[in-house]
Amino acid sequence: MMNKQRNLLVVSGPSGAGKDTVVSRMRERHPEIEISVSATTRAPRPGEQDGVNYYYMTKEQFESKIEQCEMLEHVQYCDKYYGTPKSEVDKRLDAGIPVVLVIEVIGAANIKKMYPESTLVFIAPPSMQELRSRLCQRGTETAEKIECRMKCAQEEMKHAQEYDFRVVNENVDECAEEIYAILNQRRGE
Ligand code: 5GP
Repeated sequence: MMNKQRNLLVVSGPSGAGKDTVVSRMRERHPEIEISVSATTRAPRPGEQDGVNYYYMTKEQFESKIEQCEMLEHVQYCDKYYGTPKSEVDKRLDAGIPVVLVIEVIGAANIKKMYPESTLVFIAPPSMQELRSRLCQRGTETAEKIECRMKCAQEEMKHAQEYDFRVVNENVDECAEEIYAILNQRRGE
C-alpha cells in the first residue's frame, strides 16, 4: 500500500501561480496521469464545466457529502467550500494510476497526514507583483476578490517550506516537465 501512495502528487501554490495550467499541460504531455476533480460551492467561471473543472454544488449538497464521509479532505477558502471527493483518489491509487490533486495548503497538509508517502509540490509565481498582474489579467475576479486572493497568497507562500519540492512557474512547459520528473522519480523509488 505504501508504494501506491507514491502515485499521489499534491500540487499547491497561490491562486494565479498557474497551477491548473501547469498540471493540465503535464497531463497533455503524459496522459497516463489523471487529475482529481474537486467539489466546490463557488460559482463556475466563464468557460468552466461541471465535472471537468469542478463538481459545482450548493452549500447543502456539499455539507451532506461531508456528513456521509465522501470527502477525503475539505476546507473553506474565501468563504466557499472546496474538497476532494474520496471517489477521485482511492480507486485510482488501487489501480496504480498516478493521480494529481491541485489543492490549497491546509488540504495538502491533511493529505500528507493521511498518505505519508505522497509527494507535495509547491508552485510559486516568479514574484508577488507578477501574481497580482496575472490575477488582474484573468479578468474573472472583482477588485475585492483579488485582494482576498492576494491576502491568501501571502499566507500560502509562508507554507512553501513544508512541501517536499518547490518550483517556480516562469515557463509552463518547463514547470510541467519539472513536476513530472519529480513524480516519476518518486514512483521509481
Ligand atoms: P479557485 O477558486 O481559484 O478554483 O480555487 C481556490 C483555491 O482552492 C485554490 O488554491 C485551489 O487549488 C484550491 N482547491 C481547489 N480544490 C480544492 C480541494 O478539493 N481541496 C482543497 N483543500 N483546496 C482546493
